[in-house]
Amino acid sequence: MQYISTRGQAPNLTFPDVLLTGLARDGGLYVPDAWPQLSAEDLRAIRELSYPEAAARILAPFMDGIGEDELLAMTRDAYAVFADPGVVPLRQLSDGHWLMELFHGPTLAFKDVAMQLLGRLFDRELARRQQRVTIVGATSGDTGSAAIEACRDRDAIDIFILFPQGRVSEVQRRQMTTVLSDNVHNIAIEGTFDDCQALVKGAFNDLAFRDEIAMSAVNSINWARVVAQVVYYITTAVALGAPDKRVSFAVPTGNFGCVFAGYVAAKMGLPVDKLIVATNRNDILHRFFQTGAYRKDQVVATQSPSMDIQVASNFERLLFDLAGRDGAVVRGQMQALADQDGFEVAPDALAQAHELFLSHRVDEATTTATMGEVYRETGIALDPHSAVGLRAARDLLPEGPVITLSTAHPAKFPDAVEKACGQHPALPEHMADIYEREERYAVLPNDLATLQGHIRGLRRD
Ligand SMILES: *Cc1c(COP(=O)(O)O)cnc(C)c1O
Repeated sequence: MQYISTRGQAPNLTFPDVLLTGLARDGGLYVPDAWPQLSAEDLRAIRELSYPEAAARILAPFMDGIGEDELLAMTRDAYAVFADPGVVPLRQLSDGHWLMELFHGPTLAFKDVAMQLLGRLFDRELARRQQRVTIVGATSGDTGSAAIEACRDRDAIDIFILFPQGRVSEVQRRQMTTVLSDNVHNIAIEGTFDDCQALVKGAFNDLAFRDEIAMSAVNSINWARVVAQVVYYITTAVALGAPDKRVSFAVPTGNFGCVFAGYVAAKMGLPVDKLIVATNRNDILHRFFQTGAYRKDQVVATQSPSMDIQVASNFERLLFDLAGRDGAVVRGQMQALADQDGFEVAPDALAQAHELFLSHRVDEATTTATMGEVYRETGIALDPHSAVGLRAARDLLPEGPVITLSTAHPAKFPDAVEKACGQHPALPEHMADIYEREERYAVLPNDLATLQGHIRGLRRD
């Protein structure tokens, strides 16, 4: 399989290069040149497989150069760290409504599902090339801890994560800073999240420095992260009767990575009825699906911070398909986004999107009310991101069958849960002692040269 850029002006790559490259040289995102197909027979066969087996089966056609056996060894290893034996268990909530719990990984949010595999794929490919990388990233909370857990103790990787000092929650900070592995380096920056991001960008744009440390990233546009998420759409749909029955999914959405994986599953032949794009008040995607216009707005802070985005980076992959895979159209749209804060797609492109996608926006009060409602009905405490998804499922497809993706453990957002449900959610056992564990992190001023010196001093050669 070849990978092509959504902007049509970068060289085609094979999977190992796409894995390590991230962004294409023309600024676009890589996508497969064709979607591998799963027949009804293939889907029925997946019903009999464990999660790691299904993952290896589904991902192998995307990952030329890695044998299915070798892939299976990696998926077994990646998903053995999940606290639930089913990895991503399904829970029935009511007639026609299910929750898919994606938060049983080490950092209690769905990003672990892809990151745990990504860390292993990186390590394998780097060992094969006899290369090392230094991963540098900025986090406002969740992504940093998922990346650290995925990269800790890996021979070929050093990881540096910047977070704004005093501006991440204590659980979020401790999830990062209590990892004491030699190759993990946390840095509290005296500044905001935007300052952290600007420092990472500055380090990337210093080409001599970037080459010197072999700088890399594991951000949400990495294709390997997206494709790893295709697996759970397929395993849960077949568990509920696919290919003989159709289901829908409601997906709390920020950067459009998770829900795009559902689109890929549908393109591969999974009978998906609807994909619901559920947003909080940061509703650029909801407005797009209502009107066909994609326009930037101000970001507002909500109880579901992992969905507080202005521009959904993975959305470009869908735009590419809606444009008939014409990179020139996407280039024009991205130019208009930069110059005029937005653009509109053609009416037939919007109509095509509506064949699969629905959308819904859920405000703060309704999110809280939904958490309370579900807690009273079922005793289940939802985190605010999952509540946005479930509200959309109940409002748009009350009869179902619909699976809501539950993307974070309630204990990750204890204040919002306590306010809505009147109960303080307990941390799972493997994290119960997090407040007692030793922390290690540096505090640095908001200064690029200082940061670069710090990284030079600590990375391993
Ligand atoms: C990242 C995240 C999301 C949004 O996922 P995208 O792939 O960015 O759309 C939703 N919920 C939680 C808890 C997250 O961490």
